[in-house]
Amino acid sequence: GEALSSKFKANTPTTPKTVAIIGGGLSGLSAAKYLSDSGHIPTVYEARPILGGKVSAWQDSDGDWIETGLHIFFGAYPNMMNLFNELNINDRLQWKVHKMIFAMQELPGEFTTFDFIPGIPAPFNFGLAILMNQKMLTLGEKLQTAPPLLPMLIEGQDFIDRQDELSVTEFMRKYGMPERINREVFISMAKALDFIDPDKLSMTVVLTAMNRFLNEDNGLQMAFLDGNQPERLCEPMKQSIEKNGGKVHVSSPCKEIVTNEDGTVKHLLMRDGSTVVADEYVSAMPVDIFKRFIPKTWSTMPFFRQVDELEGIPVINLHMWFDRKLKAVDHLCFSRSPLLSVYADMSTTCKEYYDEEKSMLELVFAPCSPLAGGNVNWIAKSDEQIIDATMGELARLFPTEIAKDDKWPATSKQGPQGKARLTKFAVVKVPRSVYAAIPGRNKYRPSQTTPIENFTLAGDWTSQKFLGSMEGAILGGKLAAEVIVDKDKGIRKPLKEIQQHIVDNAAKFTPK
Ligand code: FAD
Repeated sequence: GEALSSKFKANTPTTPKTVAIIGGGLSGLSAAKYLSDSGHIPTVYEARPILGGKVSAWQDSDGDWIETGLHIFFGAYPNMMNLFNELNINDRLQWKVHKMIFAMQELPGEFTTFDFIPGIPAPFNFGLAILMNQKMLTLGEKLQTAPPLLPMLIEGQDFIDRQDELSVTEFMRKYGMPERINREVFISMAKALDFIDPDKLSMTVVLTAMNRFLNEDNGLQMAFLDGNQPERLCEPMKQSIEKNGGKVHVSSPCKEIVTNEDGTVKHLLMRDGSTVVADEYVSAMPVDIFKRFIPKTWSTMPFFRQVDELEGIPVINLHMWFDRKLKAVDHLCFSRSPLLSVYADMSTTCKEYYDEEKSMLELVFAPCSPLAGGNVNWIAKSDEQIIDATMGELARLFPTEIAKDDKWPATSKQGPQGKARLTKFAVVKVPRSVYAAIPGRNKYRPSQTTPIENFTLAGDWTSQKFLGSMEGAILGGKLAAEVIVDKDKGIRKPLKEIQQHIVDNAAKFTPK
């Protein structure tokens, strides 16, 4: 994290370059920040009236913040932590006790934890945390789980990358790990990491996460931002960019990347009909949108063909306000329920949303389409249907406080006697969020360097050692900035090797 940041700050450009960046999510803002730190002149063009993309949030008519996603920061996010330091906003991270909290499946309302003992170094702290938990796995099961994971610690990334062809479930069967581990641990991990079920998720994702988290003592320690992300995180990024001579424009959708005869970018055509000319161009759009922007002259190139293999996964973020304070847990909870992934009572965990009297649960609803697992296409259901189904899950998580009562549907103005009543809800559907990390996808993530001389890619889905995450977005943007900083010095960062079968497929492809 720090080394690259220092390189940017120490840089004096040969010729300061103007850089047009499409997309004002974390990745586009990160690219712009580090380019402006390096003496270049970036301008961010964000389509929507707010910055942040998947971390964007807005206020409803009551003044309540509605977030695109419940977001957790981990100790093992080196580039993100470095960014908070640089922006001098470290105090905005609300670190929670170092543990993981899982709802018990057989015991409604009960929780069990992985507790991390201070002073025990990684990865032994994680091993010990699991061994000490008596409720989830038997000692025999714990011992059966360890051997297949050891090569990861010894061989590292090579072993991890080789497992990309296997789903989590296939990996477990191959190495004889007990089925119950799937039920007890991997389902909640898969849903938290990529909003999908373990029979869909690539094992590389789980191993990458474990490897990143286990290499640092505090890797799995979690923090909540102290308020909404646009003001508390995107705004200081914007200020840093502008202080160093860059610009950030919202409500500026790009319509088309227009190319010259030789395939290089000529200009950006904006939706309002204007054109943007710059020395360098960066796309920091999500993968599904970028696909539609690939100019015709690039579309037969294997480098851009591979992007077709990546696809965003749907996810739904819920906010549910109750008429009273539920049993307070000042942490993220792994629901281990069929319909939900993680959730938190934001009225307890987050300063800006703090309320002593009433709870506001923020919940991630996943998997929510057959692509992600299960067989219900939740993303197409109405908000009321989604909230109603969620109440059933909450009745199990809060058995003494919440009841699902068909006589009083969750969204009605009354609730069951003596139980908490839902006073308000907000449903945010993200039909295409992070790319679906199903088996075999990792190799298709393109490098930030592209075959096009004046065009660079950023985004959480580009090739970098973190998954589709906030850390991945920050790092992807940083690597894109490095491509441009190096190019200005006559150094060309290599393209990521493209697999032969992509070339073969591309040869078969005939442009429309
Ligand atoms: P995006 O945020 O998608 O940004 C792309 C931007 O490009 C958007 O602002 C979009 O409006 C803009 N754009 C698109 N088209 C155009 C155009 N034509 N012209 C101009 N602009 C355009 N990550 C974690 O690390 N921890 C978590 O706990 C976590 N939880 C999550 C929960 C949910 C529900 C979701 C949805 C995501 C979560 N993530 C989490 C993932 C994280 O939010 C993303 O990985 C990250 O924010 C992606 O950043 P990005 O900049 O690559 O893409």
